[in-house]
Amino acid sequence: NAETVSNFIRQKIEADAAQHKYDRVGLPPIITRFPPEPNGYLHIGHAKSICINFGLAQTYGGRCNLRFDDTNPEKESTEYVDSIKSTVKWLGFDWTDATGEHLHYASDYFEQLYAFAEKLIEAGHAYIDSQDADTIRAQRGQLHEAGQNSPHRDRPTAESLDLFRRMKAGEFKEGEHVLRAKIDMASSFIAMRDPVIYRIRFVHHHRTGDAWCIYPLYDFTHCISDAIEQVTHSLCTLEFENNRPLYNWVLARLVEVGALAQPLPEQTEFARLNLTYAITSKRKLLQLVEENLVDGWDDPRMMTLVGIRRRGFTPESIRLFCERIGVSKADSWIDMSVLEQAVRDDLDEKAPRAVAVLKPLKLILDNYPVDHAEPCKAPVHPHHPEMGERHFELTRELWIDQDDFMAEPVKGFFRLFVGNKVRLRYGFVIECTGFDTDEHGNVTAVHANYFADSKSGTEGSNNYKVKGNIHWLSDVSAVPAEIRVYDRLFNDAHPDAGGKDFLQALNPDSKHITQGMVEQSIANVAAETHFQFERHGYFVTDKVDSKAGALVFNRIVGLKDTWQK
Ligand code: ATP
Ligand code: MG
Ligand code: MG
Repeated sequence: NAETVSNFIRQKIEADAAQHKYDRVGLPPIITRFPPEPNGYLHIGHAKSICINFGLAQTYGGRCNLRFDDTNPEKESTEYVDSIKSTVKWLGFDWTDATGEHLHYASDYFEQLYAFAEKLIEAGHAYIDSQDADTIRAQRGQLHEAGQNSPHRDRPTAESLDLFRRMKAGEFKEGEHVLRAKIDMASSFIAMRDPVIYRIRFVHHHRTGDAWCIYPLYDFTHCISDAIEQVTHSLCTLEFENNRPLYNWVLARLVEVGALAQPLPEQTEFARLNLTYAITSKRKLLQLVEENLVDGWDDPRMMTLVGIRRRGFTPESIRLFCERIGVSKADSWIDMSVLEQAVRDDLDEKAPRAVAVLKPLKLILDNYPVDHAEPCKAPVHPHHPEMGERHFELTRELWIDQDDFMAEPVKGFFRLFVGNKVRLRYGFVIECTGFDTDEHGNVTAVHANYFADSKSGTEGSNNYKVKGNIHWLSDVSAVPAEIRVYDRLFNDAHPDAGGKDFLQALNPDSKHITQGMVEQSIANVAAETHFQFERHGYFVTDKVDSKAGALVFNRIVGLKDTWQK
């Protein structure tokens, strides 16, 4: 179950239900919505909001709408719309249910929003201001002092209405006039000090084209969109707390003029997700992409959901993560290790095991029969015999990982070094006898002898007690693969906290590409297939670049949390 509920949101839903606040004929008991602005790709913070909104709807037998909050045409595009839709689906949620497709765009409400704005003007609740943006901002004042009325605040209704219609007709330049709600210039909520609710913008909209040259602002659009869609619980992040009085004011005025009816949606805020070693701001993510500091929006190091997906995180792991972090009313930081552990916990049970050698080093068993191929086997999953067995052959020449050999072993190193014995997993015990080097002193091959009576699973194997147990591949059957080992994109746990330049915190060592080898049994796997590579961690075939015959693997996470601060 994907529900990520906190007590306070749940309590509100249950209290509302007890009061029959939203008992409406033909409508589900709760309606939530996920309202992204299509001005970028979704990030891990949005996953929290998606899990809360869709999860609560599931829990309470309601529905969740997907609504594009598309009222800022200059930054929005259908590319983002499409990506957001596929990401929500990938996470396992759907805005289509038995009652229909609940996909909406705030831009679909432009006519209605405009009509509502006229009603507010007619009722004396809005006026056209003809001052420039800087003046309006300055007059709003500071929290501890009252703001200053605009000289146009008491403009006659008929004049405001006329100007508003002419704004819509395109008679004025951008910035010449705005429509403001007439509320309270002394309010302790700055948002209530006659907020601008419409402005002139001669900008092409990705859906409405050039039909409009005035666009409504968020605070006017959002609450009305919620009301039109008969949303019950409008859940958003804490930064909107100060806008709640405005949300309620707009809806209450529209009820008074007969444009809307009770029961109205109500806004409840929860803490946004802040994840350490990550950036969750669309603007900053865009900057990383535009300055080519990453390989696009879906770079596997990016905390965009397309990046996280490409890295190999599963939807189940993201939902598990959201469940574990819960929902609170106070901002806090969640450690990246919580996300990483969620994917380990998800994949541990279901990912097939395989052997990969990331940095191959030749191992030659000098006393091994030249053409012998010893059949070996291993379970696909150690706890799930029903997943079957993998079969492979042990030959005289093998590939091992460079890290499993040391010419000059350090203290505590139990793997291969001259004179030491290790077990080749699922195979024989060997003893290292020497190694070859090139003219630079680099090790080019390791030599060993094997013990013919030591094979795993045979009686004789009990006579060998070795501390090291290393993985290997036969050079006859190993399949080449590109291996991309990723690390966290930032070195600093709080890369953009306190106005810091997050670009300074980029981890220069966050991507290592090696030409490795994998076992033959996985030579033809499809893209986006998950594995645990024994002793290395969790990997996935790259969604974009991996092909049968040209495999590319991304490391999702290591087996354990070994991140060094
Ligand atoms: P950004 O600050 O990155 O531009 P945004 O809040 O402007 O994000 P929207 O597309 O408006 O992005 O967000 C859609 C929904 O997701 C909103 O309800 C918003 O509150 C929620 N959301 C955005 N970021 C987070 C986060 N870090 N944690 C939880 N919810 C978030
Ligand atoms: Mg927003
Ligand atoms: Mg934003």
